[in-house]
Amino acid sequence: MEQTELSTDTANKVILCRAAIAWRANAPLSIELLEVDPPKACEVRIKILSSGICGTDLHILEGRNKVPLPAVLGHEGAGIIESVGEGVTSVKPGDKVLMLPLPECRECCFCLHPKGNVCVKEDILSPTGLMLDGTSRFTCKAQKIHHLFGTSTFTEYTVVHEIAVVKIDDASPMNKVCIISCEVPTGFGAVFNTAKVTPGSTCVVFGLGGIGSAIVMACKASGACRIIGVDINENKFPRARALGVTDFLNPRNLKKPVQQVVVEMTGFGADFAFEAIGLIDTMLINSGRTLKGSFLGEYKSRDCIPKLVTDYLQKKINIDPLITHTFHFERINNAFEVLQDENENCIRCVLLF
Ligand code: NAD
Ligand code: ZN
Repeated sequence: MEQTELSTDTANKVILCRAAIAWRANAPLSIELLEVDPPKACEVRIKILSSGICGTDLHILEGRNKVPLPAVLGHEGAGIIESVGEGVTSVKPGDKVLMLPLPECRECCFCLHPKGNVCVKEDILSPTGLMLDGTSRFTCKAQKIHHLFGTSTFTEYTVVHEIAVVKIDDASPMNKVCIISCEVPTGFGAVFNTAKVTPGSTCVVFGLGGIGSAIVMACKASGACRIIGVDINENKFPRARALGVTDFLNPRNLKKPVQQVVVEMTGFGADFAFEAIGLIDTMLINSGRTLKGSFLGEYKSRDCIPKLVTDYLQKKINIDPLITHTFHFERINNAFEVLQDENENCIRCVLLF
């Protein structure tokens, strides 16, 4: 097998790099040397510069969200194109890009529908952990390693399909914009596209982590006059207050179900309720209300995500408060500990490579 140094000409060669491998659930990730194959037709290889850690990655490590293992996890990443496979036209080596957990092929019925964003080529709903040709580009200790959601960002290099990557503004600060792969569109889009929060409304947000905090910012920007934040970790409350939460509830300190308390506080219940924990028991439906799911905030990923980056650069939106911790990539297990630690006030940890 041909191996190369990270900094020399690597196109068409296998790259040997460091990656965090999830060998199984309920165990720490292990930093290993990973062989990353060159991209095949319609694929690109990316040098990762930063990656957020999403609650979904945590659910996978806890065994609550089943994906094929061993795998390289992570689906929220920013990087630079190292090389491209045959037929790739939308990006070229050297381009700054974001990786997209929901691809956009622009050919399937969902991509062609004006409101559709769940491209049929996604690998989230029934994950195979493989590229579209049914194989993997990752090998470690002579064993094939799975991809995650067609992205895999907890590695120095990854291979993704052209439809799961998008070029962003050259001026993008690469240590920050990774969260525009998932956290920012998911939270903002749930409010702006799915719920369409109206001025003067009352909102309740269950979970004040990364997604919940982005939801709070968007509710405030939509003119909500009351935002009730619910979390079991009260260390999250001061930051949430600064983002716009007006009232706080810790379900552990309540003698009644939190839903009942919300109804008592508001008279008839909130106008808009957002579930950003990952629990179905926090959902509350009365007659005349609508329950909607929202995948990546209903944004068409390749069409809309570069625009969010540009909006950030032009200061039309702010994402800075959503990143509270940064770690060197090799300290990824410490980052997961901080995310789960109830003595911490973490919104989002970003790994820097
Ligand atoms: P996170 O870990 O940053 O935040 C979760 C928050 O919930 C934490 O603040 C935690 O203290 C709180 N919490 C946990 N149990 C609770 C309980 N019983 N009652 C109240 N609060 C509780 O995670 P995140 O990155 O914000 O992700 C949140 C959820 O959103 C996850 O389930 C994730 O899978 C999901 N998600 C969905 C999409 C989508 O497109 N639909 C995208 C990304 C993430
Ligand atoms: Zn995510």
